[in-house]
Amino acid sequence: MGFWPEGYRCCVNITFDYDSNSALIRRALLDIVAQSRGRFAPNVAIPRILDLLDTHEIKATFFTPGWTIDNFTESVEEILSRGHELGAHGYFHERLTDLSKEMEETVFERSMASFERIDVKPEGFRAPYWLISDRTIKLVQRLGFKYDSNFMDNDMPYMLVWRGVDTGLVELPVEWMLDDWPQFETHRRDPQTAYDVWKPEFEGIYELGRYFGLTCHPQAIGRISRLKMLDRFITEMKEKVDVWFATCKEVADWAREKLT
Ligand SMILES: [Zn+2]
Repeated sequence: MGFWPEGYRCCVNITFDYDSNSALIRRALLDIVAQSRGRFAPNVAIPRILDLLDTHEIKATFFTPGWTIDNFTESVEEILSRGHELGAHGYFHERLTDLSKEMEETVFERSMASFERIDVKPEGFRAPYWLISDRTIKLVQRLGFKYDSNFMDNDMPYMLVWRGVDTGLVELPVEWMLDDWPQFETHRRDPQTAYDVWKPEFEGIYELGRYFGLTCHPQAIGRISRLKMLDRFITEMKEKVDVWFATCKEVADWAREKLT
């Protein structure tokens, strides 16, 4: 018997880290043009991505900093109204490893307050840059999150044990090779190159019946040539009829049932 719901051989989970201009403003306060790149997400990329997901009838998870919720509220409301999930992703896209205890707590408080303003209780947490401090997991537990998506030690969901203690959190592991940022921003690769990295990984995961978690950034993947590649990639994954396309919450709920 496989791990996934009946009739499904493997799981594909598409996530978007909706950073908008949060990190750019925090890091380059005076560089107005750099900041404008982040606004490509609410202006252009998010509407395109939502249409693409609708076409494929796929629901996704958007990990969203509080800053994005507060400043691009309409766009975030649109994501919700189209049936997608929102997860937490810091307030200003902070590097949690750089913060004092008090500062890190403040970041979480501000992020939660932004979610409260739109009446959403996020169940999942993904740290900006996938950087967590020694205190982060404890905070995530205390704030009532149900899953975490930061570690890179598996290609299946699992119950997260931290410092020898069961946290009760489901971990949805990630991996840099399945992140569009290094492909398109760090290294400026062409869409075909990213496809050539992702496609064989998916094929292998499909064969083994495991978990394929893709991390995208609207401002990167939303450029049209890249989005066309994602469209083609999703179309090909969907041709295998026994792939379960699920949000993080759906995967986490299912994994918790199976594993506890
Ligand atoms: Zn991010």
